[in-house]
Amino acid sequence: MVYAKVIVDVPAGGVDRTFDYRLKEEHMNVATAGMRVLVPFGARKQTGFITEITSSSTVKKVKSIHELLDVTPVLNGELLELGQWLAKETICFQITAFQAMIPAAMRAKAQKQLHRRDDEVTRLPMEIQALFGQKTTIDWKDVPQQKKILTQIQTGIVAGQLRVGYKLKDSAKHREQKAVRVVQTDETPSTDQQKKTLNLITKKEQPVAVASLINDESLSRSTIQTLVKNGFLIEEHVVIERNPYTAAEGDGKEQKATLTTDQTTAVHALIQGVKSNQAKTMLLHGVTGSGKTEVYLQAIEEVIHAGKEAIVLVPEISLTPQMVNRFKRRFGDAVAVMHSALSTGERYDEWMKIQRKEVQVVVGARSAVFAPFENIGLIVIDEEHESSYKQEDYPRYHAREVAIRRSENHQCPVLLGSATPALESYARALKGVYQLLELPKRVNEKPLPDIHFADLRDELRSGNRSVFSKELLDKIKERLERKEQTVLFLNRRGFSTFVMCRSCGFVGMCPHCEISLTYHQRGERLKCHYCSYEEGMYETCPECESDQIRYFGTGTQRVEEELQKLLPEAKIIRMDNDTTQKKGSHEKLLKAFGNQEADILLGTQMIAKGLDFPNITLAGVLTADTLLNLPDFRAPERTFQLLTQLGGRAGRDELEGEVIIQTYTPEHYAVALAEGHDYVRFFHREMQQRKVAGYPPYYYLCLITFSHEYLKEAMNACSFAASRLKERLSEGAVILGPTPSPISRIQDRYRCQCLIKYKDEPHLVHELRELFAHYQQEIHKDSRFMAIDRHPNLFM
Ligand code: ADP
Ligand code: ZN
Ligand code: ZN
Repeated sequence: MVYAKVIVDVPAGGVDRTFDYRLKEEHMNVATAGMRVLVPFGARKQTGFITEITSSSTVKKVKSIHELLDVTPVLNGELLELGQWLAKETICFQITAFQAMIPAAMRAKAQKQLHRRDDEVTRLPMEIQALFGQKTTIDWKDVPQQKKILTQIQTGIVAGQLRVGYKLKDSAKHREQKAVRVVQTDETPSTDQQKKTLNLITKKEQPVAVASLINDESLSRSTIQTLVKNGFLIEEHVVIERNPYTAAEGDGKEQKATLTTDQTTAVHALIQGVKSNQAKTMLLHGVTGSGKTEVYLQAIEEVIHAGKEAIVLVPEISLTPQMVNRFKRRFGDAVAVMHSALSTGERYDEWMKIQRKEVQVVVGARSAVFAPFENIGLIVIDEEHESSYKQEDYPRYHAREVAIRRSENHQCPVLLGSATPALESYARALKGVYQLLELPKRVNEKPLPDIHFADLRDELRSGNRSVFSKELLDKIKERLERKEQTVLFLNRRGFSTFVMCRSCGFVGMCPHCEISLTYHQRGERLKCHYCSYEEGMYETCPECESDQIRYFGTGTQRVEEELQKLLPEAKIIRMDNDTTQKKGSHEKLLKAFGNQEADILLGTQMIAKGLDFPNITLAGVLTADTLLNLPDFRAPERTFQLLTQLGGRAGRDELEGEVIIQTYTPEHYAVALAEGHDYVRFFHREMQQRKVAGYPPYYYLCLITFSHEYLKEAMNACSFAASRLKERLSEGAVILGPTPSPISRIQDRYRCQCLIKYKDEPHLVHELRELFAHYQQEIHKDSRFMAIDRHPNLFM
């Protein structure tokens, strides 16, 4: 008898373990660990993952596996083990960890299909040929679950003759687009508007997609339709590439740069690590523009030569076509891209390229750390200090920790790169836990841009109530005259607008969250940034009915308006959550700025990275203090990182750059030390602070949050957890709380938390798992009740 151990897709406390199932005759020698199955579970059928095939079972009445959902494993042995480790370390269910490691297309209830390659048809066994008949694609449900057929399909997949795919609703939509083509005729349209539109379309390469005419050229849909109706245009459908990154800009392979001495040292150290199969973590500390990316590229080239694979993690926000194309130009088709802006189908396609070993490199955001490579030679994490490497939902993992774990599995180096490493990382490098590699100079030997401070207190004293200091405004004007470009940064958190009544002081709050509503000019709406709640702007105060209700604070839109008033001739592009909601709009705005269609780029966090345009010579920060004053021990670190990042945006090329930071507290060390781009001094200064306050890297942190519709339920559980942990952890552990969370209610649920500070707690994971299991069993179905965040980034 042969059995399979299966983790079923029921995320609940009692069933977070394997269940035994018998293999039916047709599944013998076909089913292996890492495949998904459909199994009878209770009264229903559930999907699950096989984790092991065994020859014995201690269970008396063993049911059989109902159906195999995969013919080749979706998780290899290493990834199965990694999933188990992940569940244990981050304290979540095993099924949650496994699900996080596979593409969403496989998680969705999408219809599975089998494709065959046309040119391979005669090499397929007769039975399979018969199955397809004239078709090239068949639905998986039409495939007989017979041993012979399944084995033949497995062989066909391994040989590349067959492929498994998923029928996704979005795939057709993504592949076909409506387009128009100009009809040659002597007639002209009747209206000016139509003439202008037709002229513009005539200049384009034919046929041209209607969507791009509307979005990029701001043409009206109805005018285009009229032109079609009157026979000036004909409609067509064009197939667009599913992968938006395949069209790399600039053709031919990119020239490989001759490395500087510092770069050479770094690349050698890496290659050494790759060749000697060392699971070693290295920290590449290099100022912006010091050629870190070039180091990655050349090291990866060696990895490919050695017949191995490389994973490159990049923060979501810097995964721009610019960045990706650098890799595509160097490695061509050997690169897969994993990006959340891709559709579910596109992501699946990229993942399959890795699975089928068609690529050797993946460039992607956080979850690409789970790429199903089997012979990894190097894992790179660019901008390793970025908080987006931490997942803020189950499984709450940090990509850095997962990368290091995988490097041990594959005996390969991990390279962390940053101009401003996380304090934890740099501290480890100084202790020799990580190997420190340094690129202290910019490649072009250009000095880092000068940083000036504009003291907003002085501005206020001299009667300037604008958000722009005189100095910043003058510098922007200079740039306008010289036809150079400016980027202006404002911190999203500090620049939201709230609504207040001047008569009674009423502030518009979300009825479901303990947070004020943000005013959005578009459509005059008030929105909650924590839940989806929104309502129209009040006409009178809901409290006292006065009409003295106004919005306050300075939103990005308000700043844009003010700037436009001060500089009527300036062309401004605004980039924030409102203007970048549509897919692709982020890239489009950046591209427009790169093409110098605007003088000023004004935006939130999202503009701080990846901007690499030669014509930017001024970077401005509207207020450094908004980030600094957040109630978070990492506020100085984040402020320093951001100011340094922005500094790196200006003067990357021939032109010299300048940075102006507006601030109320120029004397604060996080602001002052950014002036000299002095990371190392900042590091030592901030370490003192952390030591005194007992924060990482001197202590580890773990945050436990309870949330419930009744405050008492959440509070009771929180104090129980706190006292239990106090009892069971060592004397050295500090438990802060129970206390209401800084945002005490979200989506009608009250929130309480306790924070554990510790140095060495070998039993912590065990204790946390017990607590977790306790609450999952007691209050099952409410998976939101307890949240454990090891190494938290957010304390709200
Ligand atoms: P970083 O990633 O540290 O910001 P990049 O790798 O993007 O730096 O390098 C900055 C610029 O310098 C890029 O345009 C890159 O092509 C160029 N560059 C990098 N290394 C060299 C080199 N050794 N010689 C000449 N140019 C280089
Ligand atoms: Zn009022
Ligand atoms: Zn809300």
